[in-house]
Amino acid sequence: MKKAQNVIWLAICFIIYVAAFIVTKVLGSFSDVSFYLGSIIMPVSSFLGVLQSLQFLLCISMVCADHKRGTVLAYILTGCSALSTSFAIVFMKIYSALPGVTNMMITFIAVFLLSRQFSISEKEKVTDYLTGLSNRRGLAEILKTKTSKKKSFYVLYIDLDNFKLINDNLGHRCGDTALKIISERMSAIIGRKDTLCRIGGDEFVLVLSNESDPLKIAEQIVERISRKISLSTGETVVDCYVSAYVGISKFPDDTDNADKLIKYADIAMYQAMKNSVDKISFFDEKMESELFRQMELERIIKESLDNDNFYMVYQPQYEINQKKLRGFESLIRLKTQTGEIISPAEFIPVAEKTDLILRIDHYVIRRVLREFKEPLEKAGNSFVVSVNVSAKNIASADFADKVKKMIAEAEFPPSCLEIEITEYCLVQSLELTIMNISKLREIGVQIALDDFGTGYTSLSYLAKLPINLLKIDKSLIDDIESNSKSRDFANAVISMGHMMGCEVISEGVENNKQLELLADHKCDFVQGYVWGRPLDYDVAVELSTS
Ligand code: C2E
Ligand code: CA
Ligand code: CA
Repeated sequence: MKKAQNVIWLAICFIIYVAAFIVTKVLGSFSDVSFYLGSIIMPVSSFLGVLQSLQFLLCISMVCADHKRGTVLAYILTGCSALSTSFAIVFMKIYSALPGVTNMMITFIAVFLLSRQFSISEKEKVTDYLTGLSNRRGLAEILKTKTSKKKSFYVLYIDLDNFKLINDNLGHRCGDTALKIISERMSAIIGRKDTLCRIGGDEFVLVLSNESDPLKIAEQIVERISRKISLSTGETVVDCYVSAYVGISKFPDDTDNADKLIKYADIAMYQAMKNSVDKISFFDEKMESELFRQMELERIIKESLDNDNFYMVYQPQYEINQKKLRGFESLIRLKTQTGEIISPAEFIPVAEKTDLILRIDHYVIRRVLREFKEPLEKAGNSFVVSVNVSAKNIASADFADKVKKMIAEAEFPPSCLEIEITEYCLVQSLELTIMNISKLREIGVQIALDDFGTGYTSLSYLAKLPINLLKIDKSLIDDIESNSKSRDFANAVISMGHMMGCEVISEGVENNKQLELLADHKCDFVQGYVWGRPLDYDVAVELSTS
């Protein structure tokens, strides 16, 4: 709309300029004539000055309306005016036209300066301030141009893994330096016809011409990014390592739509992320059906939150030695209107990508507080109920205050509530996580670190954390009966938990042999099918009061 208005304005300026030009030429031939305006004698030459100022103004207006086309038109028109004026001076000896030439030159310079300023600020708009690469807007322009041609090309979506660790641990200045180093490494690989863009904090998109081999380039990117990055914190130099995932889509084979090309490359990147072996993935149609499923799940989750289609099950946790009940982990379940039961392993990751997870977590906490207040009273507050809280929630500034308010409203004993956070929360935002869990610990809420051993936590993080329970991930104890290395590792993790002053629980314990070994290693608690599957509310309450 704005573009159309600009074109109209450009055309109007052009027409007025041409009209003014013609009038100037006509009046120019009578320049020595004067006429009366009221009682004043006006020489025609004074009008010529006014008309030239108008031409100047029109040139500037044209550049402002559309700086590329406007500049060309302004140069052409001023050039024509300058030529005709020079012609009048040289061949017709009309020396009174001399100031006109000066005016033309001033117009020329003004158009040049203004146009250059427009170019600079336009370039700034499409350039990433930090790396000097194109930004998201620049990428949109590049793709618009490329998709309007028929030539095939690739879009590579590159996401850095664990980059947040650098920002959190070493500060944003080091993070910025790392991003510059990474973008320089990538720029060194790509060809002249390829364009690298930074479209978000640690997300890059590479538009690759069909002359380049996308797989080879992606492999080089992954390899170069994974090389050591030495960052100076001012006091010391720290060596950091970052890894990258790459998703690739192709124009026009996958789609001829610019937005979809990025989206498909993003979907492929997400697939590469899920696949821990291969860090590069090409888009294929199956991935799109997965995306549809995700969208469908998003709709189902929203609907279920509105219609209360969720229900909870509670898995018992026991002291390993006397098999005394420690408490329950609350696990959410979803039953759709059509009766389909969807596992949290499927819908929680979808909810985590949106803000729906915030609503789910709040729903679970409220429900657990409401449902277990009475059973706890009956059992003399002798057990805990734990709830899983997502990284997004624990990193929200007001999470702890919200939970405190819910606890107070429900009149629930705070020490009987346990919040399970995952190691991933720490990667998301260490400071806010620590702040929230410290606030909750102050009022007695217990904090468990879930899925421990699956990868993210560094020991330096752990030492800073006010947690009281370490929850060993199922994958760590899956084969402790048969694999002595796993056994030693589980043993070491349990000892480390104790050294940190935490109690240790093992989840996913499925057989007696595992139980025996964990007891030998002084694991404090167990949770798993061997002693109890997730139970319906009534059954859990009965167990807690028996
Ligand atoms: P998680 O927190 O690691 O939960 C443990 C999962 O292991 C549960 O699966 C549980 O049913 C399962 N499990 C327990 N013992 C055994 C065992 O001995 N063998 C095997 N094979 N599995 C066992 P579930 O309920 O499907 O939950 C999957 C994940 O979904 C949970 O993993 C958690 O990350 C998430 N989740 C579940 N409920 C909630 C919730 O209320 N809020 C949030 N934010 N996440 C939830
Ligand atoms: Ca859990
Ligand atoms: Ca777990």
